[in-house]
Amino acid sequence: MSLMKIYTYPDDILRKKCLSVDNISSDEIGLIEDMIETMFANKGVGLAASQVGVLKRIIIASPSASRDNLYVFINPVIVKGEGKVAGEEGCLSLPGTDGEVERYKYIYVKSLNSEGKEVEFEAKDFFARIIQHEIDHLNGILFIDHLGFTARQRAINILTGKKV
Ligand code: ZN
Repeated sequence: MSLMKIYTYPDDILRKKCLSVDNISSDEIGLIEDMIETMFANKGVGLAASQVGVLKRIIIASPSASRDNLYVFINPVIVKGEGKVAGEEGCLSLPGTDGEVERYKYIYVKSLNSEGKEVEFEAKDFFARIIQHEIDHLNGILFIDHLGFTARQRAINILTGKKV
């Protein structure tokens, strides 16, 4: 296992759409192991493959930031979302910033697990928030895109080191 570089704003790779994974080979398994290592080393609760420079639809999530509570999702799709709730979000690719983002409170997700088996499940609250944030990454969307103009500008100024 090895640590991977986390790409940060405004790197172009964060704006690219990731491609579906057709076949889970040793490459994908190795990537997932490295993503897990990288996420925990950086004290993250979620990570998308595009954040480490790989344009594949793979995300990992650990709401309690611990290995005994770790989820791997390949080609995840939100089938249905219910309720709306605002909450604070940060991102390893946007260090030093956070913002309040409205997300679904409940989501129904279809995905492959790391064995390539199709799984369907319901997630809520913080776990649902992480999954929505990470699936956004697979589509080139960042949490700051969901902020209002002023909050987004403030975040971009912090990220680009611009004094205001
Ligand atoms: Zn993120």
